[in-house]
Amino acid sequence: MDLNIKCPACNWPPDGGAHWECENCCYEFDMFEAAGKCPRCDYQHKYTQCVSWAGGCEEISLHLDWYNDIDKKLLEINIYKTLIKLFL
Ligand SMILES: [Zn+2]
Ligand SMILES: [Zn+2]
Repeated sequence: MDLNIKCPACNWPPDGGAHWECENCCYEFDMFEAAGKCPRCDYQHKYTQCVSWAGGCEEISLHLDWYNDIDKKLLEINIYKTLIKLFL
């Protein structure tokens, strides 16, 4: 799947590496594999920081802002569904 994902601040494209740590369980994973959801505890990350040690910057952006070519509304709906399940 080619989603044209890149940092909204510096245009760094995620390279598929496990650069992010879950805020909830500290598991290291690829934030873009499941739209910000931790594969271990299902925690949904609303914000995503760019990865300076992999060539990006240090900006923290809304996870949704990283996606360019897909229907953001659809992704939003999926994420909110997940959030509702987690917090209600
Ligand atoms: Zn987790
Ligand atoms: Zn960046």
